[in-house]
Amino acid sequence: MSREVYMDHAATTYMKEEVIEEMKPYLTDYFGNPSSIYKISRKTKMAIDESRMRIAQTINANADEVYFTAGGSEADNWALKGTALANKDRGNHIITTAIEHHAILHSCKYLEKLGFEVTYLPVNEFGIVNVEDVKKAITNKTILVSIMFANNEIGSIQSIEQIGSICRNKKIIFHTDAVQAVGSVPIDVKSMNIDLLSMASHKFYGPKGIGALYMRKGIKVDNLIHGGAQERAKRAGTENVMAIAGMGKAIELAEQNMNEERKRLTYLRDKMIKGLLNIPGTKLNGAEGENRLPGNVNISFESVDGDTLLMLLDSEGICASSGSACSAGALEPSHVLMAIGLKEDLAKGSLRLTLGYKTTEEDVDYTVKIIEEAVNKIRDNKKKWK
Ligand SMILES: *Cc1c(COP(=O)(O)O)cnc(C)c1O
Repeated sequence: MSREVYMDHAATTYMKEEVIEEMKPYLTDYFGNPSSIYKISRKTKMAIDESRMRIAQTINANADEVYFTAGGSEADNWALKGTALANKDRGNHIITTAIEHHAILHSCKYLEKLGFEVTYLPVNEFGIVNVEDVKKAITNKTILVSIMFANNEIGSIQSIEQIGSICRNKKIIFHTDAVQAVGSVPIDVKSMNIDLLSMASHKFYGPKGIGALYMRKGIKVDNLIHGGAQERAKRAGTENVMAIAGMGKAIELAEQNMNEERKRLTYLRDKMIKGLLNIPGTKLNGAEGENRLPGNVNISFESVDGDTLLMLLDSEGICASSGSACSAGALEPSHVLMAIGLKEDLAKGSLRLTLGYKTTEEDVDYTVKIIEEAVNKIRDNKKKWK
């Protein structure tokens, strides 16, 4: 039997055993509505409070600045639409980047239809936004800057602290989509001057369908989901208690292991990059060293179709991704790879491999070997049929 190697942690992760254990009581005995007053409900209310506290601690926020959402996409939609609508008396201009997740880009497109103006900042060849560009794009109508912490395709990490201080000085609200960064690199919303921050539990070994939006006290954001008074009357709907409990456990574990795991993944990442760049006709996409997420590898192969490569890898038990999972299936080359200036055929011959908690050195060696064989096979076949 061939081995199973999961190299797609940026798409989603499995849950850690401890996370599943933490969730179990809320699937069975403790099903009570957190808004009710009897014992099984007090237990669920306590689980929510505890999870909120753990999340707040991890990013150096106060517990009452953390609001649960149904995932990263909802947090992003809420941050953008809620902020735009609540602050439209101050201006209609929003600044973001060309490499954001679609939850941001499509929210911006929607806001443009409502009359907001959006500047999409370019990035350099490593996928990094120039801080001076942010400064220059600000006008007296700018109400919001939304720049992702770390990119989901190429792993590039932005100068969040510098951008945050620019925005704070100009009294412009600063949101960051930190879905790829939370649990993987240190985040401090206070020292980084972050006003709004999105996260999603399933990117750090928690359950899917649950996330959070950090909103700094005093920032004006309209509600996205109207209804009951849950989440201090800011986000209606009976809470997803078991997922919230799991998310809290997952972030606690990620925080505990962060330094060690960062070092381990950085080593494995660099070993894999080195191995893959040994194959002729290859190019690394994204930044190197500290400016790259610990577990992210993104490589382009000349004269190779990424989707064919993925299928060959799948037949050897390797799960990876070409472009981002959200746009896989669509024939369009990834907007992120286009934004770093990659030619279309190199963009279509790109592979994203994202390492994580269960990845071993053997997995990395095996994957490099299989990719080399697959790339040679595809290129050989091409020659034969020409
Ligand atoms: C996964 C992801 C999202 C969307 O999160 P969901 O929980 O899947 O809705 C948003 N932004 C980034 C950067 C992501 O990686």
